[in-house]
Amino acid sequence: MTVISWINTESALPDKFITNRIAVIQELTTPDHINSRYVSSKDNPADFVSRGVSPQKMSTCHLWFYGPQFLHGDKQRWPVAYDKHWNIDYEHKFDLKEQTTSLASMTTSQEEMIYTINHRNSFKVLNRIVAYVLRFIKQCKVKNHQRKSSILLTPEKLNESLNTIIKVIQSADFKDEMRKLLKSYAISPSSLLNGLAPFVNTNGIIRVAGRLETSSLSYHAKHPMALPYNDPLVTLLMQDTHKKKLHYGPQTLLAQVRQKCWPIKGLSMARSVVQHCIRC
Ligand SMILES: [Zn+2]
Repeated sequence: MTVISWINTESALPDKFITNRIAVIQELTTPDHINSRYVSSKDNPADFVSRGVSPQKMSTCHLWFYGPQFLHGDKQRWPVAYDKHWNIDYEHKFDLKEQTTSLASMTTSQEEMIYTINHRNSFKVLNRIVAYVLRFIKQCKVKNHQRKSSILLTPEKLNESLNTIIKVIQSADFKDEMRKLLKSYAISPSSLLNGLAPFVNTNGIIRVAGRLETSSLSYHAKHPMALPYNDPLVTLLMQDTHKKKLHYGPQTLLAQVRQKCWPIKGLSMARSVVQHCIRC
């Protein structure tokens, strides 16, 4: 049916190869004298060539040797003639194609994407959304049979998602520090990270080192991830911790957050979180 509409259309076709082939058919067939009709696949012997068939089956194929049954019968019983309503609006299709292309080009940066996610005021929800997005991106890069169907998020995936969010937060606020640390330059004396012995670990995250280096604490507690002051996502992280830990006071809340992260002016942020907590 698509080919009939191609033969009978005067509008531009979607492909140069198709255009050239259809032009040949149009030259050889005068629409005024040729009455196009649609032949379904089951009655079309040409399909054996394009779709393939075994020699054994071909040798006994009635359709191939004698053509479709309707050709041997009354013309009244032939398939219906071509109708211009079958035409496909290629110009409209092209418009859609262009729109799709332009939409695809309107991609946003990872930073903007994370800051605009509707996380319903929950860092946990944000973390899960980012984990699903990362998994979707990963699945798009592998072949169908290699894709995993499980919808569960593993702790590793959630940790990967947390690292991504932290990197985005850091790249927004510690851009200069990151650039200098990666080149092993000294950071600016006016930087808020100055005095915290910052370094970039293998995951590309700025961590701080301090007086706890020789302690028996975990790596995360000894080298927490640096977080900027008053970033909305850092506030969200502290609010989540506050609620999760049954409304800790500022000091205890900060100590809890520092198990993994080191927010700049952390005590001030912790006090603000507690002050603005409706329940507290
Ligand atoms: Zn509270």
